[in-house]
Amino acid sequence: MPEQAITSPALGAPDVRVSARSVQRLHRLQTSMRNLHRDLLTVLAWGSVAAALGLWVADGGIQAVTTGAKALVAAGIVTGLVATDLMVIMLVLAARIPYIDGAIGHDRAIALHNKLGKWVLFGLLFHGLFLIFGYAAQQSISAFSEFASFLGVSDLFLSIVGLVALSVVAVTSIMAVKRSLPYEVWHAIHLTTYAAVGFSLPHQFSVSGLFAQGTWQRWYWLALFSVVALGLLSFRFVFPLITSFEHRLVVTRVVLEDTDVVSIEMRGRGLDRLGAEAGQFFAWRFLGRGLWWHQHPFSLSAAPTNDTLRITIRALGRGTAKLLSVRPGTRVAIEGPYGIFTDAARSQLGVTLVGIGIGIAPIRSLLESTSVVPGLATVILRAHSPEQLYLVDEIEALCRAKGAQLLALVGPRNERGEPTWLPAQYGTLRIHDLVPHIAESDLYVCGPQSVADLVIEDALMAGTPKSAIHNERFSW
Ligand SMILES: Cc1cc2nc3c(=O)[nH]c(=O)nc-3n(C[C@H](O)[C@H](O)[C@H](O)COP(=O)(O)OP(=O)(O)OC[C@H]3O[C@@H](n4cnc5c(N)ncnc54)[C@H](O)[C@@H]3O)c2cc1C
Repeated sequence: MPEQAITSPALGAPDVRVSARSVQRLHRLQTSMRNLHRDLLTVLAWGSVAAALGLWVADGGIQAVTTGAKALVAAGIVTGLVATDLMVIMLVLAARIPYIDGAIGHDRAIALHNKLGKWVLFGLLFHGLFLIFGYAAQQSISAFSEFASFLGVSDLFLSIVGLVALSVVAVTSIMAVKRSLPYEVWHAIHLTTYAAVGFSLPHQFSVSGLFAQGTWQRWYWLALFSVVALGLLSFRFVFPLITSFEHRLVVTRVVLEDTDVVSIEMRGRGLDRLGAEAGQFFAWRFLGRGLWWHQHPFSLSAAPTNDTLRITIRALGRGTAKLLSVRPGTRVAIEGPYGIFTDAARSQLGVTLVGIGIGIAPIRSLLESTSVVPGLATVILRAHSPEQLYLVDEIEALCRAKGAQLLALVGPRNERGEPTWLPAQYGTLRIHDLVPHIAESDLYVCGPQSVADLVIEDALMAGTPKSAIHNERFSW
């Protein structure tokens, strides 16, 4: 093995002895529960689309299609109903509802939210086009005149404004455009989605007659919109406010880990009631001067206790640079906990934790709480330079206590030849050369995504099941 690897296999007896059978039993139970919740959510999502269409059919939607023009109108209604339902699913996915977060993880919920955005936009555009051409054909007028008449009806005009706002949100969410905007600007634009939905609602109830008084469709959609609005209001605004007031989190200590990295320790009341787990993240707002207006997601870098939380932050942009100067005594508002980068995601007997750069932070806390079968646990810290082996002393002590092997892999990657996540001096070595149990492991990997992706690719080739790979993305 190349010289730079620090290997610390179980020195002395591990503190935590875990029977392999009990670990396996727990993981099987966790996996089947999670699959059950995922299946239930999938059924609910498809069920909502089926309900939207079913109610329309039950209301005589299909019988009304007697001419080509009416078929166009029906196509417009169907695309509108499906797009609206997908929009509701999108909002629910972004509402940070703990049940959804626990079943599929916040990052996957947001990835799905982003994917649906495109379909919602196309659906609404086709909804408008089908209706314009359908109504125009029914009245034997041009599509242009029909569109002009839409503009004269206030509720329809509002819905067109909503569609334009949604298009702006969609364009600014394209990765290349999103990256060119400060996060706060992008976020502010993104929030206009709520206004867009608000603008589009009146025409559904007033113009089409589809949701007329006394119809089942009216009650169904009114109930759906109300539940979603309540969920959003509660989980995005009310509960985070209550949480912050209840736990009264205050910064107690700021430790400089490197020139641009700090660990921030906080103390609060009754933190066990948060139900946070090691490896999870919160959205943090430090209520100090010049800091209160920006909120950032950071993972816990130590397992939470009844009265303490800790995060470790690397300054990578304007906002995080300011956080280097946070002072003890600063009040902190939080939203969370979020994420399933936790022990609850385990499904295998072995475990391999890979922290790259500041991605070491959640790996450090996860290591503290995850069950370890000695001989089947490896922690890999991947850094550009030795200074970037953040929290290495703590991690080494934990590895020793739990019987895990620690590998610290330091140095730049070989940029030529086949892409690799390993330092150049490791040549053509692969993950299974370093971690013989990788195929029977859950792999947790966190760090810059391009490097994390290479680790994942390597593990998949070595036989790690896809379902056992857990990746916390530091950007959505
Ligand atoms: C789930 C998760 C956990 C994270 N954990 C850690 C951690 O433990 N330690 C650490 O150092 N970094 C962590 N990060 C990354 C950290 O949040 C960003 O580096 C930081 O927010 C950048 O802010 P900035 O103002 O310095 O940079 P900016 O230039 O403002 O932002 C750079 C990029 O950071 C992301 N970002 C900024 N603010 C937010 C936000 N409020 N919500 C989502 N994304 C945002 C955006 O993708 C943005 O393009 C985590 C990120 C995520 C998503």
